[in-house]
Amino acid sequence: MTRPYTLLIHGGCEGITKDHYTPESQKAHLEALGTSLAAGRRVLDSRGHAVDAVLSAVRVLEDCPLFNAGRGSVFTRAGRIEMDASVMNGENLGAGAVAGITCIKNPVLAAGAVMKKSAHVLLMGTGAEAFCKKQGLEKVDPKYFHTVERKKEHLAGKALKGEKYGTVGAVCIDGQGNLAAATSTGGITNKQYGRVGDSPIIGAGVYADNSTCAVSCTGQGELFLRRVAAHRVSALMAFKQLSLADAVAEVLESIRDLGGKGGMIAVDRTGQVCLAFTTRGMFRGLVREHQPARVAMFGPPGTWA
Ligand code: ASP
Repeated sequence: MTRPYTLLIHGGCEGITKDHYTPESQKAHLEALGTSLAAGRRVLDSRGHAVDAVLSAVRVLEDCPLFNAGRGSVFTRAGRIEMDASVMNGENLGAGAVAGITCIKNPVLAAGAVMKKSAHVLLMGTGAEAFCKKQGLEKVDPKYFHTVERKKEHLAGKALKGEKYGTVGAVCIDGQGNLAAATSTGGITNKQYGRVGDSPIIGAGVYADNSTCAVSCTGQGELFLRRVAAHRVSALMAFKQLSLADAVAEVLESIRDLGGKGGMIAVDRTGQVCLAFTTRGMFRGLVREHQPARVAMFGPPGTWA
């Protein structure tokens, strides 16, 4: 028996206020979110697995230069781009991630390859890149990821905190009731080279378990790491019987207690969804089977464009 699927995506949550975006730029971002949902929906309409839906949706956002993942990623202080990504399969707790990669076109597909084709969960740097090459993943010149906008931010020496977090992610429950989550990022503008945030860390920036929920996070990675944020949502549901919305709210509150902000998208095993953020906006999108896709960028969380 199948049930209706649900797919949610995000494209980061910091600095999303009306004065930061021209109407043209708003339109471009919302369209990109729509394209990402459409890619995930195609997989689900052909009865694909939740894992493949989140990989497809995130891949589109990585290819789009407007978000801080894949092409359009932020620069390290040393002037390079180092990307992190992860994916998790709630059906069997399979997980894959890469950290600090510089030349693989789609970091989320690299994470998928680690999950599906290696005996490991997390590969980093040149070792991860060599593995991806062996798997036939597309390699590009590191300059492919450069965009004028990010370069400007880098050269302006933007601070590590309070800058735009444009990390991307997706969570899904498919027609068979399987959950999956994926997250991909360039990290934080002018980060120390070698810095790894929460996005590729299973349990921090991503988590999926068919018995509870699937979660993808965005925000100040160091705090999501210290709270083991994504897994904490799942744990609150499993051990304290909290609803998805209450669990997400509690975890975002715990991030706030540490002095930080952020956002999460999540879906539980019954198909309940939660898109929440403690910033003023979050690029976000939602599609349910047989229903039109919805996208938004400004707050509050329940608002749609
Ligand atoms: N969480 C990401 C990181 O710290 C940043 C973001 O969400 O934009 O790398």
